[in-house]
Amino acid sequence: MNEIDNINTVPDAILKLIQEFSKLPGIGKKTAQRLTYHLVRTNLEDALSLSESIMTVKNNIILCSECSNITQIDPCNICNNPIRDKTRICIVEEALDVLALERTGIFNGLYHVLHGVISPVNGVGPDDINIKKLIERIDSGNFSEIILAMNPNLEGEATSMYINQLLTGKNIDITRPARGIPIGSDIEYADEVTLGQAITGRQKF
Ligand SMILES: [Zn+2]
Repeated sequence: MNEIDNINTVPDAILKLIQEFSKLPGIGKKTAQRLTYHLVRTNLEDALSLSESIMTVKNNIILCSECSNITQIDPCNICNNPIRDKTRICIVEEALDVLALERTGIFNGLYHVLHGVISPVNGVGPDDINIKKLIERIDSGNFSEIILAMNPNLEGEATSMYINQLLTGKNIDITRPARGIPIGSDIEYADEVTLGQAITGRQKF
């Protein structure tokens, strides 16, 4: 029998922590058990440091009021940076994509984080992600290029097409990264060279 199922011998506190770890992305039941039992053995100082770090993130991290990237100050360090090109916005699905693109050191413009993609199958429509604020931002600014850097899959494509439609007639170049990122893979996981080349060689949408 699996440890987690044998509820008679496992203390409630342990079961609860296993449950909490299991909710995290990429953490299966086995890994949740391993992490929990590791924490039981770990010293109090390290365990406290972990729980404090979680609370610090929850209490101090906010979304940038301009680009919706995660940040500790508002506007974020990217929106606030005077040497960034304020005429270009790269639209991405998740904050982790900003991290991936920043690692390439190629793109010097601004970002807009959608926090999701349009996915009718999962019941996610255009109003459920950060599109309205994007259009308001574009309408109130002076932008020359919008880069649609969604992941190369069906939902990313649907989201790009939807945003492209909203932007037609606004006299802004709409581009997308070159087809260097393999179909079905995530920007977040693309290596820096591939992603850098995809951004450099971006094409008209
Ligand atoms: Zn920002």
